[in-house]
Amino acid sequence: MKNVVLLGSTGSIGTSTVKVAEDLPDQIRLIGLGAGNQVDLLAKQTLRHCPMAVSVADPKKADALRQTIGGGIQVHSGAEGLIKLATLPEADIVLIAIVGTAGLQPALAAIRAGKDIAIASKEILVMAGEIVMNEARKYGVKVLAVDSEHSAIFQCLDGKPSDSVRALWLTASGGPFRKTPKEEFSSITVERALKHPSWVMGNKITIDSATLFNKGLEMIEARWLFDIEMARVKVVVQPQSVVHSMVEFVDGSILAQMSTPDMCLPIQYALTYPNRTRSERVQTNFAKLGQLTFEEPDEDRFPALKLARQAGEIGGTLPAVLNAANEVAVDAFVNRHKTFVGITETVARVIAAHKVVEQPKLEQILEADAWARIEAAR
Ligand code: NDP
Repeated sequence: MKNVVLLGSTGSIGTSTVKVAEDLPDQIRLIGLGAGNQVDLLAKQTLRHCPMAVSVADPKKADALRQTIGGGIQVHSGAEGLIKLATLPEADIVLIAIVGTAGLQPALAAIRAGKDIAIASKEILVMAGEIVMNEARKYGVKVLAVDSEHSAIFQCLDGKPSDSVRALWLTASGGPFRKTPKEEFSSITVERALKHPSWVMGNKITIDSATLFNKGLEMIEARWLFDIEMARVKVVVQPQSVVHSMVEFVDGSILAQMSTPDMCLPIQYALTYPNRTRSERVQTNFAKLGQLTFEEPDEDRFPALKLARQAGEIGGTLPAVLNAANEVAVDAFVNRHKTFVGITETVARVIAAHKVVEQPKLEQILEADAWARIEAAR
């Protein structure tokens, strides 16, 4: 039985994680649930799973939650509440599925308390991958991938060192605009951008999948998770989203991890690792699928890939700046203050204006993040 703390329980990854826990009641116990503003859903999850502690973003909502769920369960709030959950003495593993960067401090707190972490929130590794991985090594804890691509690579690598790898191949669905001509990009609406061809996900990652910033962030995430330089992290479009990613080894052999897409699968693997546990959720019928195709990503229509590679190669505070500027620009697009192409333009301008700090400390990363948000909004 693993005691799991789930941060972001009310989101897309969070609710899939709750499903996985319900599939495996004798293996996974949810002992902490952290959410943002969806207090009603958090209360429902709490009544069903009876965790030891819960947390909501807004302190004003904590009292109402307390009344709904009754006594016996600790109720916390705000950034501190997430840290309380992440460091619960009884926790074996903390799964972080909070959109954006609010998961960074709880991730570090969990590591320093000796907990394994499972990361869905790629922003954490993009911002502070070196610090997070160094802390994990220092405290001897595992950092497990929840992102389907990184879970695939983790499974294919199976512990092989980075000098046995020629390239990591991240697959991309190509998003809803894979075939859209460049001339039409200026008229892309929020509604169109929110329709992902393969996955149902939160708004931020869905827009990131449409610009391909998601894949850019994943390249940087892979660089840190697997301790490999950016030049060996490559992207190929796989529109059916069946090949979740691949590892090409130095002898030319390539291993891929495949299945019809369902986030429950990588979530379950992260929570039950190193074991494989029976699940009926995913059934893949190759004859029905018919074909698997691959394409080169078009960096002219999707410059996000180039920008992310540049940020990952230069390193220092630049990936944090790229990530923060993107978050602000996506928010502006979703709120109709900016066009679709304006997202990438904003990020390009902000990273060009940034004075990179090499080998930054956490405070310098947080300062760069704050600077980028102001600069992007400006
Ligand atoms: P959602 O928008 O669906 O969910 C985000 C979650 O974060 C919600 O539970 C939300 O709470 C919570 N949250 C937001 N801000 C705070 C805060 N300040 N304090 C506490 N909780 C907060 O996002 P997704 O589930 O789609 O994505 C989560 C992360 O996982 C992202 O980093 C994404 O890139 C990554 N990811 C997602 C995949 C997917 O398939 N969805 C695949 C791979 C990675 P509430 O709703 O209550 O406000």
